[in-house]
Amino acid sequence: MKICSLASGSKGNCLYLETSDTRVLIDVGLSLRETLLRMEGCGIDPAGIHAVLVSHEHIDHIRSAGSFSRKFKVPVLASHLVRRKADKYLSKTQVIEFESGCAFAFRGSRIDPFPITHDACDPVGFVIDTDEGRCGSATDLGTVTRLVTEKLRGCRCLNLESNHDPDMLMNGPYPWELKQRIKSRHGHLSNEESLELLFDLAHDGLEALVMAHLSEVNNHPDHVLRTTSSFLRDQNICAPFVVIGDQFQASAVIQI
Ligand SMILES: [Zn+2]
Ligand SMILES: [Zn+2]
Repeated sequence: MKICSLASGSKGNCLYLETSDTRVLIDVGLSLRETLLRMEGCGIDPAGIHAVLVSHEHIDHIRSAGSFSRKFKVPVLASHLVRRKADKYLSKTQVIEFESGCAFAFRGSRIDPFPITHDACDPVGFVIDTDEGRCGSATDLGTVTRLVTEKLRGCRCLNLESNHDPDMLMNGPYPWELKQRIKSRHGHLSNEESLELLFDLAHDGLEALVMAHLSEVNNHPDHVLRTTSSFLRDQNICAPFVVIGDQFQASAVIQI
């Protein structure tokens, strides 16, 4: 199994996931050109992708999902509501619709899109069960519901939002309304909330962890890496790969 965070943050998100028979992108939020450049830099062949999964219709997740799909003739997997809402990005695109909360088979995998709370029309996280184990991805969620925790248990690799430091957010330059939106149940997870979720998810089989969607203004990647690593040490979890998702460059391709 391979995982690579091609981009992570409010300017664009894209996660690559590969198992023996399935290669997918979760969200394509960069320009198509930049996405392809980063894939090339990582040695990932875009023609080998089987599908693009879309978590929600915000532009940092969907910007090039349609154009990637049309160029490489692969389907976009998106919910019915997202497809309708994001017609601008997905017209003339092959879309396989799913229903949030209903798992479905795709190639050799079982994909389970589960609902999350966020200010989008039908936002989901994903759990993908493959013959090589389970992967989970949850970004852009304002709060951790019991469902989110239950769905993400038992993953070998996890892509988890750790958006902001609450003090930096509240003392930072954002307008009051935006601060309230980010903090709200329909906004983004703070570093503390993310570690609380990780407390429930961490297990000996967790091998790769990407801390994702960090705010460029209200967070410090070094701080997130330090606190996450020491948290895992305290829990006696030796996840060999802990990566901070970056807006401006792809991570290494992690093989587990
Ligand atoms: Zn986002
Ligand atoms: Zn969003």
